[in-house]
Amino acid sequence: MSLKARAREKVERAGISNYSFDHDVLVMCGVRYTLAACSCGEPDCDGVRLERSPGMPHHILQ
Ligand SMILES: [Zn+2]
Repeated sequence: MSLKARAREKVERAGISNYSFDHDVLVMCGVRYTLAACSCGEPDCDGVRLERSPGMPHHILQ
């Protein structure tokens, strides 16, 4: 399974439906997360980590 598919499962399991993918970057609430393989070995690990991308500044609309 690709990282992208794992990330999709992860966020959907968390009950989040308001997300999208920009190529291999997950975007939730205007925040971009880089996908990284996780190898922590914990039994409930889904094999993917979401790393908050420092790349683009964003502004939260109030
Ligand atoms: Zn892990």
